[in-house]
Amino acid sequence: MRRLLEDAAERAIQYVEKLPHRPVPPSAEAVAKLATFDEPLSAEPTPAEQVLQQLDELGSPATTAMAGPRFFGFVIGGALPASLAAQWLATAWDQPVGMHAATPATAELERVALGWLVDVLGLPAGCGGGFVTGATMANFSAMAAARHAVLKNVGWDIEGQGLFGAPEVSVVVSEEVHPTVLKGLGLLGLGRNRVVRVPVDGQGRMRAEALPALSGPTIVCTQAGNVNTGAFDPIEAICRRAHAAGAWVHVDGAFGLWAAAAPQRAHLLQGAAAADSWAADAHKWLNVPYDSGVAFVKDPDALRAAMAISAAYLPPSEQRDPYDYTPELSRRARGVEIWAALKSLGRDGLAEMIERNCRQAQRFAQGLEDAGCEILNDVVLNQVLVSFGDAGTTNEIIARVQADGVCWCGGTVWQGRTAMRISVCNWSTTDHDIQRSLASIIRQIGV
Ligand SMILES: *Cc1c(COP(=O)(O)O)cnc(C)c1O
Repeated sequence: MRRLLEDAAERAIQYVEKLPHRPVPPSAEAVAKLATFDEPLSAEPTPAEQVLQQLDELGSPATTAMAGPRFFGFVIGGALPASLAAQWLATAWDQPVGMHAATPATAELERVALGWLVDVLGLPAGCGGGFVTGATMANFSAMAAARHAVLKNVGWDIEGQGLFGAPEVSVVVSEEVHPTVLKGLGLLGLGRNRVVRVPVDGQGRMRAEALPALSGPTIVCTQAGNVNTGAFDPIEAICRRAHAAGAWVHVDGAFGLWAAAAPQRAHLLQGAAAADSWAADAHKWLNVPYDSGVAFVKDPDALRAAMAISAAYLPPSEQRDPYDYTPELSRRARGVEIWAALKSLGRDGLAEMIERNCRQAQRFAQGLEDAGCEILNDVVLNQVLVSFGDAGTTNEIIARVQADGVCWCGGTVWQGRTAMRISVCNWSTTDHDIQRSLASIIRQIGV
């Protein structure tokens, strides 16, 4: 066992050490060699050392260097050293965090991590929370709590009676709602398509004055951090309107909620603490390894009512039992890496990381503008949208940037215009990485 784990650690260390120096995408040969995995399962066992060796020799080169400093695709984030190391240790613990009495270490770490998160994100003290796989499930879990509360207000027990015969629940989203929110609504029986969509402005912010008249059980889903522009809905104004009508306000803040932790960016979330629930991804800007998201609900009892199971073989507890707040009964202890990331960064380190990435995004925008490119968004956070001309030209340059391999950026269509999207959210990205990446992108324009 010792030899095997040391070998695994050594291979992982080598992988991590190479990350800043290798091309970001895997080579075509490495991807082709993945076919070697596709063999019939042998009847005989294979020694664990050989299993690991094959995994490393075939698998590692075929990964994209997403954890590295020059991956700017989607909104990804790396893995802070303390959080990666904590995940290794917690994997050895192998605790299905759920019951405090059975898994005290992980349950306690999650309780502490939740309190720290609520604090650094400026959410109301006493907020409930659940550690889930990502913002998709965080949105789902928070909206399940919302569904519980708005129906309870009109005397309907949704968990007991289901949706058949229930009063109608109105759901309001913006035209820029993230598709995972709609998926969550579908899973909750509230429907992906029966939502009311509110128009947005040129940055993708919900236009608060265009909110429809609200009445009856209603959930309003807002967004903090648009996946293209990084823009924030005017959550304070939306809360005022929605709360006057007794509606529940949810904030999808997968990456944008982290702006609250950086004093220079916190104004973007002005008034967002007045909402009723929030979703954030820890695997994005907190830089913990996949998978990790958090659902926050101001009234912990609403989340508990939606998520708790009751079973005679699971005794009631005086302590906070994590399984009362998540869709899963058994799951890995995601709060451990979150605790380790926050503990290692400290309040100032977190603020500095967020602010640094935002500054780096601005550096990208400035450098590209200086090279004659058009920036399509106000760079308020960590997202930059750049156009190189018409759709064909822009797509061609994106392909060249990816093939050059110095950095990786993807494409998107923003309000009808094809653009390259740059997302900076990795602790290990240096200003030199930005310079190298800018030089690579600018070289492709000149080709
Ligand atoms: C990334 C993202 C999601 C989905 O998060 P997952 O972690 O992939 O489940 C939802 N909303 C927004 C705004 C996002 O950026």
